Formats: sequence, structure tokens, C-alpha cells
Amino acid sequence: MKVAIVSESPADTAAIHILLEALTNRRIELLRDARLRAGGWPSMLYAIDVELIHLHYRTDAHALIAIADSDDSSVHEEAHDLPGGAVENCRVCRLRARIGSVQAKLRPRHVNYSVDVAIGLAVPALEAWLLCGKNPHASEGRFIRERQAGNSLFPARKQLKRELYGTEFPSLQNATACATREATRLAQNLSLLGDHFPFGFRSFAQMIRTW
Ligand SMILES: [Zn+2]
Repeated sequence: MKVAIVSESPADTAAIHILLEALTNRRIELLRDARLRAGGWPSMLYAIDVELIHLHYRTDAHALIAIADSDDSSVHEEAHDLPGGAVENCRVCRLRARIGSVQAKLRPRHVNYSVDVAIGLAVPALEAWLLCGKNPHASEGRFIRERQAGNSLFPARKQLKRELYGTEFPSLQNATACATREATRLAQNLSLLGDHFPFGFRSFAQMIRTW
């Protein structure tokens, strides 16, 4: 299965690749010629449509995976899926809107299948997923409650980085090694990750498992 992963860093992509293989129980070939380069949320949002168009016409990719950090944005919830319920400050809603407008205009493809798209939202950042099972406080519910209380999750994100990488500013090599190690651990216990991150991970996993 050929997949392009769009995330905020190559270390995140390495982790998602491992989780994806565990979720699908098959080998995932990453398309390395993706148009998108890591550069945080703004570049993800504005380049996702270019990426999908590229994959559709120029490759035989089966899927496009987009994983965003929520940072201090709204967390996607079921109410957003209702007609007119999309939220401007929700990154899943924003990505879906852009992807949907591209899909509506695509012409037939050179292969007889379309590019499946799955979006995951890591609250507040992928480091929280990767610390699941190691840090009992690394769970979506805790971070959502903090946001609802009006607190920024910026300090929590810095703490997660220190805990996972040993520093707030890891080298790419260190970040990738840590992300790979923890994703390999979690690949053996995906239900734990789903239990702690029901909106961001479990819904993403359910989408992947329908493929
Ligand atoms: Zn949403």
C-alpha cells in the first residue's frame, strides 16, 4: 500500500508510519516525493490541496494521511460533523474543508481507485501520543479540560518535549530515534492509545481500519 504522510516533522512521520503499519497489519510504502515539506501547521494547511492533486494525477498512491498537532486550537468533536457545524478554529475541520473542495474538482484518475484521506489530530502534540502509557497524565481528556479552563497548552507541550526527548529542542536524529522507539512500543498496544486519545487517535484509527 502506497501512502503519503503529511505531518509537522520527519520524526512525526516516522512514528505515524509505524502506527499505520500496525493499524493496517500490512507493509506501508511511504511516497518520499511528497510535495509537502515539514514546516508546521500553516504550511500543512496551505499545501494539502497541492499534495492531494499531485498524488491523484502523478502517482498511484492509495492514501494521504495528515496528522496535525492541535496546539491551542479547538479539538474536533462529533458536533463539528453536523451540517454547518464545522469550526474555524478546528484543524480537522479546516483540513477537511480544503480536501473536500479539491476532491470535488478532481477529474478521473489514471488508476481505477481514488486517494483515500485520513486526518488525525494529536492533542496537544504528537509527543503526547508517544508518551501514552509512560506518563499517566498524557491523555486527551486532561488537555481538553485545561483548554476549557482557558489555559494555554504551550507549557504542557514544552514539558512533553523535555520528557520525550530530554530537551525542548531535540536534533532531528534524536527526535526520530525517540519517536520510533515509542511508536514501536505503542504498536503493540493500540487500544491503549485509543483509550487515552479517543477524538484524535481512535477516530483516525477507525477510519484507517475501513480501508
Ligand atoms: Zn472540527
